[in-house]
Amino acid sequence: MTANPTRLGAIREIEANVAPAPFFDTAEKTGAIYGENVFSLSVMQKRLPKSVFKSVAATIQKGEKLDPAVADIVASAMKDWAMEKGVTHYAHVFYPLTGLTAEKHDSFMEPVGDGTAIWEFQGKTLVQGEPDASSFPNGGIRATFEARGYTGWDVQSPAYILENPNGNTLCIPTIFVSMTGEALDHKTPLLRSQNAMSEQAQRVLALFGHEDIDNVVSYCGPEQEYFLVDTSFVNARPDLLNAGRTLFGAKPPKGQEFDDHYFGAIPERVLGFMHDTERALFKLGVPAKTRHNEVAPGQFEIAPVFERANLASDHQQLLMSTFRSIANQHGFECLFHEKPFAGVNGSGKHVNFSFGNGNQGNFLSPGDNPHDNAQFLVFCAAVIRAVHLYGGLLRLSIASAGNDHRLGANEAPPAIISIFLGDQLQDVFEQIAAGGATSSKQKGVLSVGVDTLPDLTKDAGDRNRTSPMAFTGNRFEFRAAGSNQTVAAPMVIINTIMAEALDYLATEIEAAVNAGTEFNAAVQSVLAKVMEQHGAVVFNGNGYSEEWHAEAEVRGLRNLRTTVDALPEYVSPEAKKLFSTYGVFNEAELESRFEIGIEQYVMTVNVEANLTGEIAKTTILPAAVRYQTELASNVAALKAAGIDPDTGDLQTVTDMIAALRSGIAALDAAKAGEHDLEGLAEAAYYRDNLLPAMLQIRAAADEIETFIADDLWPLPTYQEMLFIR
Ligand code: ADP
Ligand code: MG
Repeated sequence: MTANPTRLGAIREIEANVAPAPFFDTAEKTGAIYGENVFSLSVMQKRLPKSVFKSVAATIQKGEKLDPAVADIVASAMKDWAMEKGVTHYAHVFYPLTGLTAEKHDSFMEPVGDGTAIWEFQGKTLVQGEPDASSFPNGGIRATFEARGYTGWDVQSPAYILENPNGNTLCIPTIFVSMTGEALDHKTPLLRSQNAMSEQAQRVLALFGHEDIDNVVSYCGPEQEYFLVDTSFVNARPDLLNAGRTLFGAKPPKGQEFDDHYFGAIPERVLGFMHDTERALFKLGVPAKTRHNEVAPGQFEIAPVFERANLASDHQQLLMSTFRSIANQHGFECLFHEKPFAGVNGSGKHVNFSFGNGNQGNFLSPGDNPHDNAQFLVFCAAVIRAVHLYGGLLRLSIASAGNDHRLGANEAPPAIISIFLGDQLQDVFEQIAAGGATSSKQKGVLSVGVDTLPDLTKDAGDRNRTSPMAFTGNRFEFRAAGSNQTVAAPMVIINTIMAEALDYLATEIEAAVNAGTEFNAAVQSVLAKVMEQHGAVVFNGNGYSEEWHAEAEVRGLRNLRTTVDALPEYVSPEAKKLFSTYGVFNEAELESRFEIGIEQYVMTVNVEANLTGEIAKTTILPAAVRYQTELASNVAALKAAGIDPDTGDLQTVTDMIAALRSGIAALDAAKAGEHDLEGLAEAAYYRDNLLPAMLQIRAAADEIETFIADDLWPLPTYQEMLFIR
């Protein structure tokens, strides 16, 4: 164990850690607490008059507008329900473009003017709120003097109660828009994109002869990776505390190379944390399901069961905040950063998605008969077209300063967006493509028709962990998303580009059929055409390999390596056309998102650069100088004693200090060198000058860490942070 007082103190604190008493009530059944704190349909059914309930249910299930006359009755029932559960305040919860969650709390109490007050919650307060929007990024959509923005209840996402020792709060999931109706959040475009996709998907379904076609929705099942690090260590690491990732740290002697952590036994302290988070999530109706260790030591994963994308997105935000606060109760810090530790796997968020509805099922699931399979292939073809045409937007949807450290680093897919179909589906599409648009049926060539399309097995079979977009049996898995990101951003893009692709397919098939082509032949021909035009995006090989980078270039696939490269995708002419055609973003909204993206990037790198400089100067350099002094006095003492001293170590540490100083100077120069740059140019400058200088400092510091006397090294080491708990 170290003799350094800071680190030793942290370790002693961890040894003394007493886990919160486990909640243990044998009478409590998971089923009984599930959704206990949610104003769900079943609660509404019990508490609302029949006609009111019917109206709300229609709004939720069919996406119809909420009848204002109904809102007052719902609000009042909601208030009574909440107050019975100890609630005094309510909050409109929304997701501003910072990626965090914002809440504005208000009391149910209304003064009535005679010195008394009543508890009241009106329909209009339920349906609409008015937070001060000026403190949230809006990318210039509104000048701050007209700081009003509106929150509006997303009726499809149920209200819930957040428990807190200081009082419970009724939370109402909302959208957040400006006075002029521009989206200031992730939720609004998600709902718009769902509608756009639904409209086009319904056209395809109608072509396949379905009647009674329900609204189509996208489903999303996010797998969340995270690290747990002891709070005592985090408190001793200003980088983790302020940037969420380590800016320094030599590789531990034992890293993840043994792969012994993956699916290994979950440590007891962590199990206690998981138990409590799951219980909290169950109460909130978040379907937390699988949990296991991840590849890196200290890394874990949770995957809730998939839900409608807008609900999944709300639940995902709720999951992250629940994890953070329960981790603290257990003496942990829950790290959602994409790359908290260099040289150790980072954290992603796999966005599993599919499309479907109540009446016709999941359209990305192979069916039981050739007819259903033809429809399944049309939806798959839509994904192929969408991903090929708009890979840049998908890349954009997962761009962040944090995720840049992870993509393409042999642990996550590269920034090149391709599709993995798996052997079976790849084979089917290749054969369809070979069949061409003609109806000539060669032997072994598939065509879409009643008895020619083979049974497709539903077993995903093979897996490809290196593909950013993999078909996994009944869904696609977008594996490039970062752990800290909202799933709403990629789902907005996925819905919108699917709307375009389904629109294209429906239009093509309609035109062919109207021109007298038989339906199956029309489908066959459009599938072949999609493969001909977009087959280049299908890649079943190793996405981590160098060869793929070269090959992808030949295929014309783009490689937007960093966030700075990806951000201009917001304002490309193609993006503007796409988003306005499907009513998801107008130009002002795209421009504002572009600006906010730049702002967030610059802010993040700036904070990290400042921290790097500060820690190097005030913590690492002094420690190294102390060691140098110690060695120098040793040399002097030996000389005085008439012994010829070995000055090798003194020289080494002196050289290391010089390297550290020159790194510090390089960073200072890089910061000083930024003259009047703005927007994307400033972001590019940060990427090209600040990040390399930070790495230079880090390289020197990490050398010092492995050489210095252990009792002088003040920052908890990777070894300690990853293995002690
Ligand atoms: P794996 O680690 O093998 O990829 P997990 O079970 O950890 O799988 O996570 C899979 C995720 O995909 C879960 O959130 C699950 O609910 C979700 N999922 C399953 N089927 C669908 C579907 N049809 N559409 C969207 N998500 C789905
Ligand atoms: Mg997965």
